[in-house]
Amino acid sequence: MSSFDLAIVGGSVWTTGGFTDPTDILIRGEKIAELRPSGNDPVEASEVVDAAGRLVIPGFIDTHSHHRDPGFTHKEDITSATRGAAVGGVTTTVGMPNVNPPTTTPERYRALIEDQSRRAVVDFNHNPSPTNVEMVTEMAEMGALGFKVFMVVDAARSYPHMPGLGVHKHDDLVRIMEAVADTGRPLMVHPNDQAVLGLIEHAHFEAGKMDPESYAKAEWMYDGTVWNSGVATLIELNHGVGGPLHVLHMMSDRTVELIRRAKADGQDITSEVNAFGLFHSDWDEIAHMGPLAIGRCLKPEWREALWEGIADGTIDVLGTDHAPHTLEEKAGGWDNMWATPTGTPQLQHYLMKLLDASHQGLISLDNVVRIGAFNPARRFGLYPRKGTVEVGSDADLVVIDYHAEHTITRDEVISKAGYSGYEGQTLKGVPVLTTVRGRIVARDGAVTAEPGYGQLVTPVPA
Ligand SMILES: [Zn+2]
Repeated sequence: MSSFDLAIVGGSVWTTGGFTDPTDILIRGEKIAELRPSGNDPVEASEVVDAAGRLVIPGFIDTHSHHRDPGFTHKEDITSATRGAAVGGVTTTVGMPNVNPPTTTPERYRALIEDQSRRAVVDFNHNPSPTNVEMVTEMAEMGALGFKVFMVVDAARSYPHMPGLGVHKHDDLVRIMEAVADTGRPLMVHPNDQAVLGLIEHAHFEAGKMDPESYAKAEWMYDGTVWNSGVATLIELNHGVGGPLHVLHMMSDRTVELIRRAKADGQDITSEVNAFGLFHSDWDEIAHMGPLAIGRCLKPEWREALWEGIADGTIDVLGTDHAPHTLEEKAGGWDNMWATPTGTPQLQHYLMKLLDASHQGLISLDNVVRIGAFNPARRFGLYPRKGTVEVGSDADLVVIDYHAEHTITRDEVISKAGYSGYEGQTLKGVPVLTTVRGRIVARDGAVTAEPGYGQLVTPVPA
């Protein structure tokens, strides 16, 4: 066989050693079959994509995404989520268990996977909840990449942190850590100090501070203790267990420093920053969007610590925390953000935001790829099948026009949320073509693959 199914030619390709000179990526079936310098031999392929002057990176892997399916499909479903992912350069997206019914048993996990296999556009998996510790092993054997717990129970709402998924008692956490450690899969934890959160909530409710800005800056009270204490607790509990721990939602300078020290101490620990932490965390920037752009606002020195943590490798993974809600659900937030669901759609635009951030000098292009694709693949057992551009890997690729500009509009939003917290922003660096296992799934902002093309991805055998 001398010809290939797809060739992406002339692009500068990301490798762990840097971006290459113009290179041809030759794809046969679902896999990268050959990489070679451009311009030598003629390319024989059924389809040839000219990537001259473009960058080619491994498809993004989002290990923290709320697909809302099943149970909240008016907000999002696996098809709408993965269509947005395809356009945004995300080739694997992994859901979170706060769906309805919550993913706490092998039966529910199996049913969800079977159902979504028929409807996903890009590759996917789902992180079950490990609250039923005796069921953790079975779900790992079924192919879970990781498990997710929230150390949080909300006061004024039952969603997105539902009863039954929140775990903040230390004995429960240790039992979960032990069960997950036995599987070798990472335990993903949303860190929180529930008691301090209670103090903060009480203080805000008493003072009538229900507006979006007060809500977004609530953790400034006690200087981030609500996060810092949660991370410190997790590190110390896990020190006694020793399993792979993946701490979610890096938000403050002290959480980054705690992770840095735990890594230096030799703990098997990685950490995640979210798109909202980097891009929706400056109140002055998002005030005009109010509830629509709310995650949590950060003190400037906290946000600076996040970029530093990415630069020095303390922060390993960018998880979108894609968390769509409809405009109607968000509207009440102007009056009472505490009773309104927080979270923002991210899958379609976060790669673009990272590319733009690299133009601003906030992050290197190399680290964009590492936190978005390479590191999540390695931490969650997908490397070298995914997260890299190597012979034998899945041909999950994103072609990027790094110098093009794009203005985000509400019209282009694919998420059922129906808006973007980034609308109106003009960003530099645009994903123009996405492939999943050798098939072009999006081109110039349009989805070109049908629901059902996406497959479940499970850890590669060690
Ligand atoms: Zn989340």
